[in-house]
Amino acid sequence: MARVGNSIIKGIEVGEVINLLNKAYADEWLAYYQYYIEEKVVKGIMKDAAIAELNQHAADELRHADMVAQRILQLGGTPLLNPKEWFVHTNCGYEEPKNFDVVAILEDAIKGEQCAIKTYSEIVDITRGKDIVTYDIVSQILADEVEHEEDLAALHEDISEFVQDIKAVIR
Ligand code: FE
Ligand code: FE
Ligand code: MG
Repeated sequence: MARVGNSIIKGIEVGEVINLLNKAYADEWLAYYQYYIEEKVVKGIMKDAAIAELNQHAADELRHADMVAQRILQLGGTPLLNPKEWFVHTNCGYEEPKNFDVVAILEDAIKGEQCAIKTYSEIVDITRGKDIVTYDIVSQILADEVEHEEDLAALHEDISEFVQDIKAVIR
């Protein structure tokens, strides 16, 4: 535990920061697994473009889990030790893929990113001016989540338009 490192935290309990980070940690693992499995089951037209994006996002979420775990340890906390706890502490839950069509998969993934943006934006607000190191880490993650949403929304738009065009030609 970084003792002087923790002494610079002002106006917020270290335990509260650890709790917020552990909830985000649960979210990141569930987001990682969601992308991991979506990339494997996704079907349909232009799925290769989606697979490339889903793969990249899976790697990003795992990297976020690592960033959050390192900060929890630095603060003197313990990252959640049992995957069962992910479902107890998650903010965003887990969107089980039910429809494997690429458009539906992208919609599930976009929902997840929108929740991640809300969650990190709250942690950014809570830590601003109080815990600069956590603030910096969650700001970096927030920027990635905003990029994720944008990438998925752009892909969703392209694929939806393409499907519409094909339908118009067939008709
Ligand atoms: Fe993430
Ligand atoms: Fe993300
Ligand atoms: Mg991307």
